[in-house]
Amino acid sequence: MKTNIIKLSEKETSKDDKNLEKITNTLKIGGLVVFPTETVYGLGANGLDKNACEGIFKAKGRPNDNPLILHIAHISQLDELVKEVPKIAQKCIKKFWPGPLTIIFKKSDLVPKEVTGGLETVAIRMPSNKIAHKILADVILPIAAPSANISGRPSPTKTEHVIEDLMGKVDIIVDGGHTVVGIESTVLDVTSDPPMILRPGKITLEDLQKVDKNISIDHTTIDAKDKTVPKSPGQKYKHYAPKGMATCFVGDLNNVVAEINKRLESCKGKSAVLATSETKDNYIGADLVLDLGSRENLEEVANSLFDLLRICDEKKVEYIFAEGFELKGIGLSIMNRLLKACAGRIVIGL
Ligand code: AMP
Ligand code: MG
Repeated sequence: MKTNIIKLSEKETSKDDKNLEKITNTLKIGGLVVFPTETVYGLGANGLDKNACEGIFKAKGRPNDNPLILHIAHISQLDELVKEVPKIAQKCIKKFWPGPLTIIFKKSDLVPKEVTGGLETVAIRMPSNKIAHKILADVILPIAAPSANISGRPSPTKTEHVIEDLMGKVDIIVDGGHTVVGIESTVLDVTSDPPMILRPGKITLEDLQKVDKNISIDHTTIDAKDKTVPKSPGQKYKHYAPKGMATCFVGDLNNVVAEINKRLESCKGKSAVLATSETKDNYIGADLVLDLGSRENLEEVANSLFDLLRICDEKKVEYIFAEGFELKGIGLSIMNRLLKACAGRIVIGL
């Protein structure tokens, strides 16, 4: 398949009109279009067309039981997709949409089972990225759009990542620069009692508890040793996995640095450290030190994580030693991704 790369800006330009038409026509006839959102790039198709959605699973190599998120531009699109909008969802929509919060509702009959992985619930989000909004508002269809990576790889935060994974497998890649959040949306299930975070993201447990203090979190998302099946199908799969063997180190920061330095001694020439601005100069024996950003700015850390994991692959790193973060606020969302990248290899109590 020939893939067209189309650059779109967040501002209105007359050149964009033609491009936008090309993009929306492709979506309307069942094609695949990658576009940026504020979280990560999404691989989009008409969410009401089961054949188009099957194309998503095929292009990504995604297991069929891992459901897709539907993306909309306007609240009015919600009614025909869901059975009801509970009060708690109304409050969260008011506060966080458009933005990086996905909400799970009871699905209506209009939503194909292929989209929901056979579940009776459907995940819906309204992105705030202007390019995503332009496309969604023009096409006037709910667009299913999982992260635009090959299944199992880190989610794409730049066009280059998408090209690496999906060139020749999709009709269009919309180049919209670097995404601003860099980790996927928070997934909140409002069909359960209490409402439950199934995947942590930029909108944190603390943020959501300000809306309703009963909102809780599925602990399998942050407990590497918990073997209970996660409530969100996607969370049970291997994800964000770099090719090298990654391990995460948690505890007092000085002890973490000392432990990583000790391990570096036995893997010279093939290791990388995922460090932070505060510690990056303390790994003297490391072949490659990658700076996630400052511990004072965890949003920056979240935003650089996937890019740095991909750099480890590019550099053919065999051993990755990653510093851990406190399980609170966005630190918890970073740890959810890191623990998956480490396939549960974690050293605690340092
Ligand atoms: P991605 O779009 O690649 O970020 O993945 C979507 C995530 O949302 C996966 O972890 C899915 O398991 C989750 N998800 C989508 N729909 C549902 C649903 N109906 N119930 C629970 N989790 C869902
Ligand atoms: Mg994904």
